[in-house]
Amino acid sequence: MNKISIVVPCFNEEEVLEIFYNKIVEISATIDAEFEYIFVDDGSKDKTLQILKGYAERDNRVKFISFSRNFGKEAAMYAGLKESTGDYVAIMDADLQDPPELLNEMYATLLEKEYDCVATKRKTRKGENFIISFFSKLFYKIINKLTKTEIVNGARDYRLMTRQMVNSILQVTEYNRFSKGIFSWVGFNTKWIAYDNRERVAGKTKWNFGKLFVYALDGITAFSTAPLLISVLAGMFFCMVSFLMIIFIIIRTCIYGDPVAGWPSMICIILFISGIQLFCLGIMGQYMSKEYMEIKNRPIYIVKERNKEER
Ligand code: UDP
Ligand code: MG
Repeated sequence: MNKISIVVPCFNEEEVLEIFYNKIVEISATIDAEFEYIFVDDGSKDKTLQILKGYAERDNRVKFISFSRNFGKEAAMYAGLKESTGDYVAIMDADLQDPPELLNEMYATLLEKEYDCVATKRKTRKGENFIISFFSKLFYKIINKLTKTEIVNGARDYRLMTRQMVNSILQVTEYNRFSKGIFSWVGFNTKWIAYDNRERVAGKTKWNFGKLFVYALDGITAFSTAPLLISVLAGMFFCMVSFLMIIFIIIRTCIYGDPVAGWPSMICIILFISGIQLFCLGIMGQYMSKEYMEIKNRPIYIVKERNKEER
């Protein structure tokens, strides 16, 4: 019989865990496969870990690992995939925004062997903050222009994959993880299913505009070096402009002499060019800092407690 591993990253999810656990157990019963639930407690400060320990005691399918602090969802997903032993592995949020009832359909699709992965995306951004929606759409436009790896707009992390694909993802051991990109980068055949956006059943989202913005920048720098080219092009453009200006000013001075004027325009130009310079320096800094973190080669996460042996 096939085994399906369900990876669930949890950060302060005491309010929804019970609902989630009951639901996933209920859905599992309708699927003809063995199950394993891998809960990754991402340094929660609430009762999440205690609740997980309770489940682990009475349900042998539950495996939990608990981080020494909050390492972020990306790290939690990586840890979960690494611990998984199933022939098929799903990643699912704890808040039921990723409907577990889709698993039936996803698993049936993979059994036909035509696809290696069934991934989900939402149909609309209904119920989302207007500003976040606007910038999210802009982000997908930009990132897809800048990189060859396709990043699907509205894609969620919720997906069911074959063991082969999971093993490939585990080979990508970079520290700055942008999973939406990594899933696509490893290749394989992915079938997309769309569903209506759902609200969290309980608890609060861990994201806000600032965090999403930084995440977006991380995504771009992780999958594209095009911004570096932009700074080169901007630099070349301004060199050309200044060269033409110099010629123009020399000729003008020869003809009309040198009356002192143009102070305001000069300040504007200085401000503008120094802005561009700082922007380009910033771009380089982004890549350098990423490189710096990669070179340190720190572990992606640190486990403090677990109920089963490391895989
Ligand atoms: N999560 C996590 N570590 C974090 C933030 C979030 O493991 O630092 C988990 C969280 O418990 C949930 C999933 O990632 O299971 C998605 O988080 P959330 O629902 O807050 O994000 P949203 O759905 O609002 O994008
Ligand atoms: Mg959520």
